[in-house]
Amino acid sequence: MDGRDDIGARGLVRALRVLPPSDKIGWEGITLDPEDTPLTSSDCLFCRIASGGVPADVVYQDDHVVAFRDISPQAPVHFLVIPRRHVASLNAAQESDRDLLGRMFLAARDQARAEGIAESGYRTVLNVGPDAGQVVQHVHMHVLGGREMGWPPG
Ligand code: 5GP
Ligand code: ZN
Repeated sequence: MDGRDDIGARGLVRALRVLPPSDKIGWEGITLDPEDTPLTSSDCLFCRIASGGVPADVVYQDDHVVAFRDISPQAPVHFLVIPRRHVASLNAAQESDRDLLGRMFLAARDQARAEGIAESGYRTVLNVGPDAGQVVQHVHMHVLGGREMGWPPG
């Protein structure tokens, strides 16, 4: 027993969750398999929305992603697409998240169709980090539509 066994790999990952995201999860030479990371983080607002613990106006969900209306809409249609799995930002995404990120785009497209904005057009936005104004540290795709939008964004 070397002490680490007390909390196990999952406990260690949970402990590291509170630290700023880095592209490697590890400690003292241990690199953990991303597949071993917890599916949700109880400290994360969007994990709690995905699990149903915090109410939201969910417009789409499947085994991998959830889409719900933004609480402060910036366009007639404004919803967010998130992975169920906690990924703090695009910067924290792993190679193994390739499929998940693709699923987010396809869910955005399908829900945009369902909202009737596929033909008029819509914008997908992924804010990453402070300069982009990312507030919630769980990767999310904004989908905005139903009005003309300016370019470049502010
Ligand atoms: P960010 O600035 O991180 O890219 O976007 C976060 C988005 O989440 C914002 O547009 C904000 O309005 C939305 N948001 C924050 N808290 C909640 C919430 O509790 N429920 C919902 N539905 N949206 C939220
Ligand atoms: Zn989360």
